[in-house]
Amino acid sequence: MQPQQHVDYSTANGVYCRVCGATPAADVTFRAHQGLIIIMRFRRAPGPYCRNCGLATFRKMQGESLVQGWWGYASSIINPITMLINLGPRSTVDKLPPPLPGSQYQPLDPGKPLTQRAPMLMLLLPVIGLLSIVALVVIGATAKTSNTASSYTPFTVPSITMPSMPSMPTKPSGPAKPTTTAPTTGATTGDAGSAKAGDCVWNAHPHTGDDDNNPDMQVVACTDSRAEKKILGRLSGDGGESACQGSYPNFDSYFTETYTGTGSWKNYTLCMQDLH
Ligand SMILES: [Zn+2]
Repeated sequence: MQPQQHVDYSTANGVYCRVCGATPAADVTFRAHQGLIIIMRFRRAPGPYCRNCGLATFRKMQGESLVQGWWGYASSIINPITMLINLGPRSTVDKLPPPLPGSQYQPLDPGKPLTQRAPMLMLLLPVIGLLSIVALVVIGATAKTSNTASSYTPFTVPSITMPSMPSMPTKPSGPAKPTTTAPTTGATTGDAGSAKAGDCVWNAHPHTGDDDNNPDMQVVACTDSRAEKKILGRLSGDGGESACQGSYPNFDSYFTETYTGTGSWKNYTLCMQDLH
């Protein structure tokens, strides 16, 4: 009956293909996944399969998963897992000897391997998806960085300009003995902020001589025993010694206060003369 007489019937394993009835066969199950945005469809194709029908079924269902399996959030994860699971049964049927002749139906044609079929191109889909996510993350990170930078800018500028440096006095060549003051940290220095010409002040901060870089100038009555200096005039700005020289040549000391912290903004110079 059969043209080939050298068929080895010893490979018969007592398991018969579900599709064609041939033996040997292996009892394996192939799966396919169909993703949709809302619903997912899981398909199973249980064996047993002979070698030919098994490979044909594997290639058919794997090809369908490659095309239909990605469409959905969960499906994009489930689909590659489903396809990986199929590799086990595929390997099992691939190791089977060819189906013996004499089966009820003709074994299926396994056809071309998947690697030679168009659906393989769909494997690029998750790669493209991954690249898109990476691109979005990078763009998002860049956008966040520029936001942070721009929101910081308004805070940095004032903090740079806030501490005004003390005006260091040059040693007076004349009789003037300047009192140097430089409250830079914004600490209010007594009541001198409202002092005007004619007022008398004393430095509440312990000091020796006129030089004090952290004075606490208080306005007191000129008759007060503590009074040290009489204010000849008040100038805006922190011009200090040079400013007083121009406007009040009789000054022998000066006091500047620059306060740029929160609250009142102060920047003035008192030109003063010793009371005693
Ligand atoms: Zn078969």
